[in-house]
Amino acid sequence: MRYPRFIRGKFYPYLLSLGLVFVTTLFGEFVKRRLEPTNIVMFYLLVVVFIAIRWGVGPAVVTSILSVLAFDFFLVPPYLTLGVDDIQYIFTFTAFLVVGIVVSTFASKVREHLIQRQTEKLHSALLSSISHDLKTPLVSITGALTTLLDGKSHLDEKHKRDLLETASEESARLNRLVNNLLDMTKMEAGVLRIYKKPCDLRDLIGTCLEQLKDKIGQRSIKIDIPKDLPELPMDFLVMAKALFNVIDNALKYSTDNSSIDIRASMIDAKVRLEIKDYGCGIPKEDLKRIFEKFYRVEKSLHTSGTGLGLSISKGIIEAHGGQISAESDFGKGTTIVIILPMR
Ligand code: ADP
Repeated sequence: MRYPRFIRGKFYPYLLSLGLVFVTTLFGEFVKRRLEPTNIVMFYLLVVVFIAIRWGVGPAVVTSILSVLAFDFFLVPPYLTLGVDDIQYIFTFTAFLVVGIVVSTFASKVREHLIQRQTEKLHSALLSSISHDLKTPLVSITGALTTLLDGKSHLDEKHKRDLLETASEESARLNRLVNNLLDMTKMEAGVLRIYKKPCDLRDLIGTCLEQLKDKIGQRSIKIDIPKDLPELPMDFLVMAKALFNVIDNALKYSTDNSSIDIRASMIDAKVRLEIKDYGCGIPKEDLKRIFEKFYRVEKSLHTSGTGLGLSISKGIIEAHGGQISAESDFGKGTTIVIILPMR
């Protein structure tokens, strides 16, 4: 069931705190003949601590105030008024509020500390993943070149050529990775400049396919673009990077004998571009997350990659006022849908 946005959004902790105070009060009603009211206060304090750890000081302070009000109104005689018989309760309320605020400040510090630790852990995981991706090609290149330079190893021509090809492929991989990291850094620093000019979508696709021609080899790429498609306002070179990553993925995550369909259509003042492959597909729960930085679907971890490509594409496409999304029939293929404004 989908709840309305305000329940899921920033009001959620407050609504939950209201609910928990309500439940605690019901419980208090039930036990008030057996327990001293000052003991029931402890249950409210538990709620305050829970809310503070989960959502921080703001909602916890509101919970403290709600708790004092509910406690006074329902559980302290005379019932159903905010007045008190015994003046000592004023002391209880004040102590509760003070303890509530102190505990919630402390608990939310613990919470911030936990979040900080998690972020640090994530950063070091990302760093080790990047250094792994940088090191692997460097090791292959160094290995190939050292063997070639070694005067004692008598290599035939074919073997020499294989080693040079490995070095060249791995350099290209390294180059792509470094470029992706640079693009990502530029985008995050807000210095990736976009100069839009009217561009032909067919040219853009052609440029990407040309760059990928070694990977495409004999594979069939079907292109279907309406003849009357107008030129689109784009930064050609930057947009080519975005599309390159998407087509590269379509090739990478499908088998060599399957085809790839690239289709464009016009809807209102927008162009819908689809890149469809018949590869491994993406599980439903990962569909949104694949556009996050460094996110990789667990099943594709054996294929080389860094999880940066699609997040860069998304940044570029959004900077052009467009959108990117993924549709997939897991096990049967993936369609990446790019929507771009025509004006
Ligand atoms: P990577 O360098 O890992 O390919 P991307 O950001 O380009 O990084 O993609 C993120 C993840 O999304 C990939 O690791 C892969 O799991 C999944 N993915 C992207 N495109 C496809 C596709 N066409 N088919 C299947 N999985 C895909």
